[in-house]
Amino acid sequence: MSKELIEIDGSQGEGGGQMVRSSLTLSLVTSRAFTIRRIRANRDSPGLKRQHLTACKAAAQIGCAKIEGAELGSGELTFRPNILSPGEYHFDVGSAGGTMLVAQTLIPALIMVGASSTITIEGGTHNEWAPPFEFVERVYLPLINRMGPKVSIRLERHGFYPAGQGRIVLQIEPQPLRGFDLMERGPLLSRQVRALVAKIHGKVAEREVDTAIRSLGWSSSEGQAVQVESAGPGNVVMIEQSFENVSEMTSAFGRIGLPAEKVAANSVREMRNYLKRDAPVGEHLADQWMLPLAIAVEKTGCSHSFHTTTLSQHSVTQLQIIKRFVAVTTTAEQQDDSSYIVTISPIQKEAGSGD
Ligand code: ATP
Repeated sequence: MSKELIEIDGSQGEGGGQMVRSSLTLSLVTSRAFTIRRIRANRDSPGLKRQHLTACKAAAQIGCAKIEGAELGSGELTFRPNILSPGEYHFDVGSAGGTMLVAQTLIPALIMVGASSTITIEGGTHNEWAPPFEFVERVYLPLINRMGPKVSIRLERHGFYPAGQGRIVLQIEPQPLRGFDLMERGPLLSRQVRALVAKIHGKVAEREVDTAIRSLGWSSSEGQAVQVESAGPGNVVMIEQSFENVSEMTSAFGRIGLPAEKVAANSVREMRNYLKRDAPVGEHLADQWMLPLAIAVEKTGCSHSFHTTTLSQHSVTQLQIIKRFVAVTTTAEQQDDSSYIVTISPIQKEAGSGD
């Protein structure tokens, strides 16, 4: 692959913030500079929001990068990474913007450098349209850790939309990455419905747990209603199924005017969709997992596959971005039940290419 500046059109495919974050991660890992134009062109308010800007600045700091266009609302960004510098960092989104998305921007880079890191991030920890803290802790990180590194995450304070002000701490111990295939769930080990409320009556969480448990046909010991502390009010219903090889977690958020029963039903519906098929990797995990997996494939020269319940627009776009930075090919084969097997393979370097 050439070492020229990679040019990305941020309006392609999903056209959202993930394209910025994934480019940052891949740039840090490959030391390849990029420019992205028309950032978040497919969103109602295009350009960089606080969460994306925090990811840009955090990536610039840990990659000692030169960065242009890192401003709120900016539609264009140029990022030139230098040396990856693990260590102790603190980043503050300054809004309820997703700390988990900032964390996922940094993790694939910091698991590959020669020393450990401790990263504190403040902002939202439980937001719609982003992985909640528990998803990263219980679904995403176990797969990262299976690759070799040791990454743990601690929730110090919940942060719901719109007040934010949550805080998480990541501890990252790098190791050389080994990829693996993820084709089957394995036996079910545990399952749980968990409803959190902050500054809202505890009965709301109890009704949600009750509704979800009854409609899934689970036992009441598999439900938990929890009152948590946070700067502002918030409510989320998370449903988790943990299998030997993988976990899946669905989440739905309460909002004013939406009855507790409907919030629970939204999370149940997503879990039912996952359970309709046998594929281990759920919709959201798929777009998140393929990035570190592609990095491992390039580093080790070994192909790896995973089976996902569906291939979202986020995933399709993610595969395109990955191929701009990393020397891999990808295939996504649709199965009879509409699930997909995604395979990521190294591109063999030609002898004497010097690239
Ligand atoms: P934008 O505002 O442009 O949409 P964004 O940066 O907030 O930007 P996306 O680009 O849509 O968001 O990326 C969202 C990420 O969050 C994706 O990786 C997606 O899989 C993940 N995600 C969204 N909802 C959930 C959920 N309920 N559980 C786990 N992950 C989720």
